[in-house]
Amino acid sequence: MRVPIIAGNWKMNKTIAEAIELVQALKDPLAAIAGVEKVICPPYVCLPAVREILESSAPTIGLGAQNMYFEEKGAYTGEIAPSMLVSLCQYVIIGHSERRAYFGETDEAVNKKVKAALVHRLTPIVCVGETLELRQAGKTDEWVKDQVLAALDGLTGDQVSSLVVAYEPIWAIGTGVAATAADAQQVIGKVIRPTIERLLGDKVAQQVRIQYGGSVKPSNTAELMAMPDIDGGLVGGASLKAEDFCGIVEETQRVKCAR
Ligand code: PEP
Repeated sequence: MRVPIIAGNWKMNKTIAEAIELVQALKDPLAAIAGVEKVICPPYVCLPAVREILESSAPTIGLGAQNMYFEEKGAYTGEIAPSMLVSLCQYVIIGHSERRAYFGETDEAVNKKVKAALVHRLTPIVCVGETLELRQAGKTDEWVKDQVLAALDGLTGDQVSSLVVAYEPIWAIGTGVAATAADAQQVIGKVIRPTIERLLGDKVAQQVRIQYGGSVKPSNTAELMAMPDIDGGLVGGASLKAEDFCGIVEETQRVKCAR
């Protein structure tokens, strides 16, 4: 059984004061929902303050960064090394489509980051997904398969079992138009998991958790989470409101844990 995981990507939102307010509103309601792994990924500068609140009262919420660099240290102005994150958080989002599109992050860099995160025992949440143009051209499956193979290149079965993949069709991110549950299941269940199976075997493919991301909200969570290969969600906009994020986690528990 794969434990469902819902992660909130706050992106470049929330000052430290606002982050404290949001985590205060999340901690008790989320602590009360068992059976679902919950993660929040605030901006770097908010991590220490959020961590302090979580440690004092709600260790049931995991903390993640939204990015990191793959080098250990050195002259990389503005970057953050994995060793700087380990005392602050347990997860790190890698290869988000916004990083690929706006900051030129390549498949090769994503692979290096995944490896560096694993060396430091951070759990990578590795994002893959196609543009609208690729989908309309019927190239979704090939594109996503190639992104998965590139991101996981050179990893062991144990490493891949321990990480999280997030399938995020780019056309669904921040648009309010989520993929249908059937479309998301198709890519996750018929492309991503089988690609991992061919690479590292059935056991690893069955263990790795694969999220869907793209306009997830409380009202579409049940439908998405009812799909057998969708193991949770990576949530952007709706993770910025305590009520919505808790609603998504609640719906996930209702659907996944009632089975
Ligand atoms: C995201 O950026 O990872 C995301 C899924 O955003 P949204 O939920 O706002 O579509």
